[in-house]
Amino acid sequence: MFFKDIIGQEEAKQKFILEVKEGRIPHAQLLCGPEGVGKLPLAIAYARYICCTDKGENDACGKCPSCIKFNKLVHPDLHFVYPVVKKKSGKDVVSDDYISEWRSFILANPYFGLSHWLNEMGAENAQALIYAKESDEIVRKLSLKSSEGGYKVMIIWLPEKMHVVCANKLLKLLEEPPEKTVFLLISEAPELILQTILSRTQRLNIRKLDESSITEALQSKFGLQQQDAENVARLSNGSFVKAMETIHLSEDNKLFFELFVNLMRLSYQRKLREMKLWSEQVAAMGRERQKNFLEYCQRMIRENFIYNFRQRDLIYMSNEEMNFSSRFAPFVNERNVMGIMNELSEAQAHVEQNVNPKMIFFDFSLKMIVLLKQ
Ligand SMILES: [Zn+2]
Repeated sequence: MFFKDIIGQEEAKQKFILEVKEGRIPHAQLLCGPEGVGKLPLAIAYARYICCTDKGENDACGKCPSCIKFNKLVHPDLHFVYPVVKKKSGKDVVSDDYISEWRSFILANPYFGLSHWLNEMGAENAQALIYAKESDEIVRKLSLKSSEGGYKVMIIWLPEKMHVVCANKLLKLLEEPPEKTVFLLISEAPELILQTILSRTQRLNIRKLDESSITEALQSKFGLQQQDAENVARLSNGSFVKAMETIHLSEDNKLFFELFVNLMRLSYQRKLREMKLWSEQVAAMGRERQKNFLEYCQRMIRENFIYNFRQRDLIYMSNEEMNFSSRFAPFVNERNVMGIMNELSEAQAHVEQNVNPKMIFFDFSLKMIVLLKQ
């Protein structure tokens, strides 16, 4: 992880580079910002630059002994603290219990959220915390001599998940910081951090990513076409994590798109037998996906309604969806849009209530026959 690997965030990069060059590295910084904007990769690139023994103007060298160790995140002066889940034994755990998973997870892709990390630990529904026991680890690690007489960097990911005992020990360290030690706290909910800790750190807000940076990264990292990358970037609300999720979701989206198009055609042509088969296909999908499909339908109805107003900048659709809309949009108008939306939310409520899905979706398709003619 180098500065050159960071998506966007020029301002933050320049600030970090300048701090190192001018030799005024704050001993504790708090990087705040929403998920998916690159706070963790930024912190790692900054740590690498601090520790590099042959720094360039704008980035670490990549060749010195320090950089070589950073390539695998095994530099002895680079420490990580992050939320973890208890293992089967039920005993308190510390970050290092998961260090090999953590390293390979970041090295594979440093843009992720807590839910992805939970998945990686195989604990989707568990509570991840930085346990009280972690504080002994922090103290122990920082009492070690730095390996090459340089800085020690402690990156704390999501300090808002820290047990209060651990937070209080951390506070002591921040009050009397060990020499040549840099704390980098990375938070998505700074309001949940002890006020006393906040006041001991220098806060830096990391902003949402701009669309053009995301577009560029999607093209170079995932080989997306310009237009597709732009569409995904617009849907991602400044988060690269969201952008990646959108790409991964696109397989389900393709199926949803086909189902939506089929339903509209069949209802319009009043092909009852095929509509029955269609509802059986949707009924076989499972509840969660049925709910996602209904949300997808709501989005499509909304987009098609807006399509009629010819306001390109208000429309969020893929090229394929847009093609379909060029013919379909006139069928969604002020006379039926509310009716269709109501039917969709009713279907959603019925899915929640475990009503027979074949009935829900067949019923919905029948109502579309009437609504589409309005
Ligand atoms: Zn280097």
